[in-house]
Amino acid sequence: MSKYLSNTLQAVTPYTPGEQPQDQKYIKLNTNESPYPPSPAVLDAVSRAEVEKLRLYSDPACADLLQTAAKHFGLQPDQIMPGNGSDENLFFALRAFCDESHPLAYADITYGCYGVWCGLLHIPSDIVPLKEDFTLDPADYYGRNETIVIANPNAPTGLALPRGAIEGILKANPNNVVIVDEAYVDFGGESCVPLIDQYENLLVIQTFSKSRQLAGARLGLAMGNAKLIADLNRVKFSLNPYNINRLTLKAGEAALNDTAYFDKTRAAIIETRAWTKQQLEARGFTCLDSRSNFLFASTERKNGAELYKKLKEKGVLVRHFDAPRIANWLRVTIGTPEEMQALLAALDKILEE
Ligand SMILES: *Cc1c(COP(=O)(O)O)cnc(C)c1O
Repeated sequence: MSKYLSNTLQAVTPYTPGEQPQDQKYIKLNTNESPYPPSPAVLDAVSRAEVEKLRLYSDPACADLLQTAAKHFGLQPDQIMPGNGSDENLFFALRAFCDESHPLAYADITYGCYGVWCGLLHIPSDIVPLKEDFTLDPADYYGRNETIVIANPNAPTGLALPRGAIEGILKANPNNVVIVDEAYVDFGGESCVPLIDQYENLLVIQTFSKSRQLAGARLGLAMGNAKLIADLNRVKFSLNPYNINRLTLKAGEAALNDTAYFDKTRAAIIETRAWTKQQLEARGFTCLDSRSNFLFASTERKNGAELYKKLKEKGVLVRHFDAPRIANWLRVTIGTPEEMQALLAALDKILEE
C-alpha cells in the first residue's frame, strides 16, 4: 500500500474472491456459477445492433428490465431496483440503512462480503453465531434494533429457513430493515418476495449470477417496499446512475422471459446435487441439507485444507475457507453430471493415497 492510503482503508481486509483462472485447465466448482450456458434467448438479445449502441449511455431508470421483472415477480416497477450484481445492491442497502451508530447484524458463518462492507463503510458488525449444527435460530434476531442481513439459503452452508421463520424476524423488528439475500433461492429455498406487500421493512436481494447463467454480466435485483427502493435509488444516483450496461439490461430481460430454460437448468442442478450428495455420503462425507447450487461437505478421512489442495493438483477447483468453525469443510459447486463424476474420481484417488 502507498503512504497516502487513508487510515480507514488500511484497516479494511478486502474480500478474497474464489480463484478465477482464465485458462480452461480446471473443472471449476469453486464460485457457484452455473455449468450451463445462458439461455439461447440471451445470445439473441445481445445482438450486433445492441453492441453498436454502446456509444450511448444505458437507461439509468432501467425501465424495460423493470417492466419485465415486475411482471415476473408480481410487483410494481417502483418496488424493484437492478444492481451491478447483487453485491452492489447489498452495498447500497448497507450504505442506506446502516451507519456508525446503526450496526448490521449477521451470522458468524455467512457471506464474507457483509463484514468487508461494514469495514469500508464504518458500520459496526454485530456477529450472531449460528448454532452448533450451523442452523440459524430466528429468535436470535428478535428485537436487536439493528439492520439485519440473512442469506437464505445461507452460504457456504446451503441451509435454508422457511419463509415463516423470516416472517417472525420481520415482525420482531418493525423499526429496522431486514435484508434477505436470496442468491440461492431458486435451488429449493422459499422466497420472501410474496411478503413484500405486507412488510415495509423487508428488502429481498436476488442475483442473475447463480440460477440465470449471467455471473459475468453482473446483474441483481433489490425488491421491497417502494420507499425502501427509493432510498436505494438515492444511493445509486449519488454514485453511478448508469450502473447497468446496455448489454446486461438486454441479457437480463431475455433471461427472465425464458422461464422454461430457467426451470430446466435449475431442475438439472437440483437432481445432480441429490446424486452427488449420495455419492459423497457413500464415501464417508457429511453433507449439510443444501437448498443451493453447492454442497458443504466434510470428512474425518482427510483434512479440508489438504483435500482442497490435492483436488486442485488433480485439476478440480473447490472452495475452502480458513474460518476455524469450518476449516474442515469444503464448498463444492454443483456442475454437470460429468464434472461431478470427475470430482468423485479425483476424491477416490486422493482418499486411497
Ligand atoms: C454470489 C453471492 C452474491 C453475489 O452475487 P453477484 O450478484 O454476483 O454480485 C451475494 N450473496 C451471496 C450469498 C452470494 O453467494
